[in-house]
Amino acid sequence: MHIDILTLFPEVFPAFLGHSILGIAQEKGLVDFRLWNIRDFTQDKHKKVDDRPFGGGPGMVLRPEPVFRAIEEVEKEVPGTVPPRKILLSPQGTRFNQSMARELAREPRLMLLCGHYEGFDERIRQGFDFLEVSIGDYVLSGGEVPAMVIIDALVRLVPGALGDEFSTVSESFSEMLGEPPVLLEYPQYTRPREFRGMSVPEVLLSGDHEKIRKWRLEQARLRTCQRRPDLLRE
Ligand code: SAM
Repeated sequence: MHIDILTLFPEVFPAFLGHSILGIAQEKGLVDFRLWNIRDFTQDKHKKVDDRPFGGGPGMVLRPEPVFRAIEEVEKEVPGTVPPRKILLSPQGTRFNQSMARELAREPRLMLLCGHYEGFDERIRQGFDFLEVSIGDYVLSGGEVPAMVIIDALVRLVPGALGDEFSTVSESFSEMLGEPPVLLEYPQYTRPREFRGMSVPEVLLSGDHEKIRKWRLEQARLRTCQRRPDLLRE
């Protein structure tokens, strides 16, 4: 999977991309990230990426020329591959969730466009076939954190990225233990068996795999019912 990230602040990404699961996925050759500074695609001597909004109002708007040029040139950069699925990060987009992460994890090539300031000149939206994605109903100052959220959620779903292939199967927002609907994960415990008067449920120590499976499924249903009943209605 190739992921191109178009941003005005590429320097905020390397530490994040180089560690943990993302770092390992790169070392294994499963994913390859490329960072592009939108400012490098300007053609004027002041490298101007933004300007005041027509009609007045506060803030600055990202100009279309450098963004169009960046997208068109980056698109041609990996010859022989399919055109990238283009994602525009915006609080006005479709809300990101685990099923979108699963869908995007199957794409061979993605391009993430991070906005800043007041956002994008509308013609940028009109000029390309974007999937416009929001990570939640709040406004951040830039698309860099949303891009990181999306990358993290989907790279861990790429087969081979996690050590244990099954660790994404029985976690929250998946079909718990293979049973629909999508549920929150059951409670997990590790050593010690007793801690400050709190003990691990006996069933988990029983060694009876079928009993453990049933207990976990019940707990996952209970948790989902208590905390996220909306998931049961979807
Ligand atoms: N003026 C825009 C509006 O009201 O819709 C908000 C612009 S925001 C300050 C600047 C940039 O941050 C956006 O262009 C987008 O790339 C990113 N951004 C902010 N909040 C986001 C969110 N919830 N999800 C995805 N991207 C977001």
